[in-house]
Amino acid sequence: MTEQLPDVETVRQEVRAWLEENWNPAWKGEAQEGPNRVAWLTQVVDAGWAAPQWPKEWFGREFDDARNRVVREEFARVHAFGTGQDRTNLWINTLLAFATEDLKKQLIPGLMRGEVEMCLLYSEPGAGSDLAGVRTKAERDGDEWVVNGQKVWTSGATRADYGMLIARTNWDVPKHRGLSFFFLPMKQPGIEIRPLRQITNESHFNEVFITDARAPAANLLSNEGDGWKVLVTALAYERSYMGEAARGPRSGNRVKMAEGEDELIALAREAGKLSDTSIRQRIAQVIAWRKLNDLNTARAKADLEVGTSASIMSLGKLAMSRILHETARLRTDLLDAESLLEGSENPRAEDANFLALNAYFTSIGGGTDQVQRNIIGERVLGLPKEPEIDKAVPFRDVKGG
Ligand SMILES: Cc1cc2nc3c(=O)[nH]c(=O)nc-3n(C[C@H](O)[C@H](O)[C@H](O)COP(=O)(O)OP(=O)(O)OC[C@H]3O[C@@H](n4cnc5c(N)ncnc54)[C@H](O)[C@@H]3O)c2cc1C
Repeated sequence: MTEQLPDVETVRQEVRAWLEENWNPAWKGEAQEGPNRVAWLTQVVDAGWAAPQWPKEWFGREFDDARNRVVREEFARVHAFGTGQDRTNLWINTLLAFATEDLKKQLIPGLMRGEVEMCLLYSEPGAGSDLAGVRTKAERDGDEWVVNGQKVWTSGATRADYGMLIARTNWDVPKHRGLSFFFLPMKQPGIEIRPLRQITNESHFNEVFITDARAPAANLLSNEGDGWKVLVTALAYERSYMGEAARGPRSGNRVKMAEGEDELIALAREAGKLSDTSIRQRIAQVIAWRKLNDLNTARAKADLEVGTSASIMSLGKLAMSRILHETARLRTDLLDAESLLEGSENPRAEDANFLALNAYFTSIGGGTDQVQRNIIGERVLGLPKEPEIDKAVPFRDVKGG
């Protein structure tokens, strides 16, 4: 018999009391990195708040969407991080859907506590949008796979303990059927990482050269040849996450906002443009898009079982890309000529310019806007598929760079 869930108000009181007792507001900015990050995440995991919707076996509480939302609201109310991993932890969602029990046990606890770092080894110099065309190869050698090839645009590779790798294991079948998906250990001699500089002057992504690197056979997800199926699921998780969240301004100098006020409204007030009707209309448009996207994403996710994903997640990512670009344009217009400045003495302009450039992260990373439109057209709306001349040809015979 399934255990009865506590009512929503009881959940709210429990999580609120727990946060009051345990959360230190000084840890607010440490979600990505920071000295207390792992210790705090460990507490959240042990208390069952990290992924309330997951099974108890994986540190969850088997909550439904309504109760899970209450937990997220309470964490957000005090600016605490660490919950919501059932929605945002792409690595674990992929493991839950396709890994063996042994691999799950080996990796999930460390991933939840932030002790294990990850990266995505998908894109290659000759395969980005067309990921089924990857040429990095993996060959079986006893209990291991030997990997050779090159990846590019690999975010976070320098810190990663494992990379989720898509590699070719069979060249004699059409491109989608000869792929396999691995958790490749990154800290080994066969991995060489060269950082690349981004348009934002940061260096988060890298080239990764792989020469006779080894992955244990147990790190294969699903079966040999099932890589495309695993990849499509992992990409949908990534897109759903990118459709929900994005980086905010880089400077610590934030505009003063009234309780519950949107930052764009506060910026317009500061710029003396809050009574400009065209500006008001554009702010309302962005806020309406955000709200609609939140509701759409919540509805799509509420319909999904744990460990599944859907092409509909492309809609949220595409919407977020549009929201970020329009927000960036609006910030720039609010500043007028001031937006030409930069540096720490000009925090508003610095933020506007960073956010305008960083909006391309969402419209390219995780699959471009054009590719999301193709997916929505073909898999959500059921429109005719794009012609693919190499789809039925053994990959060995496909011409490519
Ligand atoms: C900030 C950032 C972080 C990233 N991090 C990672 C990472 O961690 N790991 C990783 O593997 N990759 C990562 N990427 C790479 C990203 O996934 C690819 O850049 C993206 O998928 C596009 O591939 P491409 O650059 O090879 O462009 P291409 O595939 O060559 O596309 C070029 C242009 O053609 C268009 N196009 C291509 N095919 C079609 C089509 N069928 N229909 C319509 N238009 C099409 C594209 O939309 C694009 O405008 C990252 C990229 C960015 C910007």
